[in-house]
Amino acid sequence: MNDTFPYGWDGNGRYLLHNGVDSAEAMGTAVLAAADGLVVYAGPDAEAWFGWRCDWYGHLVIIRHDMTWQGQPVYSLYGHVLGITVETGQRVVQGEQVAEIGVGGAATSPHLHFEVRIGDNAFGATRNPMLWVGPGETRGVLAGRLVDPDGRPWQGVTVTLVDGRDGQTQFLNTWTYLDDPDHLINPDEGYAENFVFSDLLPGVYTLYVKVQDVEYRQAITITAGELSQAEIITGPRLSETPAE
Ligand SMILES: [Zn+2]
Repeated sequence: MNDTFPYGWDGNGRYLLHNGVDSAEAMGTAVLAAADGLVVYAGPDAEAWFGWRCDWYGHLVIIRHDMTWQGQPVYSLYGHVLGITVETGQRVVQGEQVAEIGVGGAATSPHLHFEVRIGDNAFGATRNPMLWVGPGETRGVLAGRLVDPDGRPWQGVTVTLVDGRDGQTQFLNTWTYLDDPDHLINPDEGYAENFVFSDLLPGVYTLYVKVQDVEYRQAITITAGELSQAEIITGPRLSETPAE
């Protein structure tokens, strides 16, 4: 999955905070069930409230998976789809086609909006889907934390993964999760991450951030088929007066 709009980001204020990931694909591309489960909704949301408003996803499919996580149900959601081939109440197996890539609702170009919801089938119950999509046998995932010395996450900071594996340096960017008053963006309880890079070829990379004019670098090894973790702890926040 090629994530073109990461979780917890608002595109520099151009969009509402993103509680899924987007993958731009051609119209009509098959959308497949992420895992076995039961279709709990398939259809339009013109008169149903699943997102920020009605008609947010256009048409969508939601699957409640057979697996649970820490005793809680796990849902996956496929938004802006067309050509839905399943019905509410129907069982599906992993890899089964449920719809096609489409456009509709808040989407202005064809793409899949993919969400993972934990516990509740609710807009505020999402996690970063890239932690839930297996990296495959040839790729790896990096879940990272960028925090201050008190463990508080930095928000909206550009994080760069420098790929110098083949001698030709490439720069991959993402952003640390933003928060909002409704707390719609949730780190994983175990990783406590605030940024994720996915679909990475194995090798050694350099993680780079600049916070309050200080640069931080860290070498990161990505292993095929695995999730790697990184943590960068910055200096204290300069703009704040000490707590009394
Ligand atoms: Zn989206």
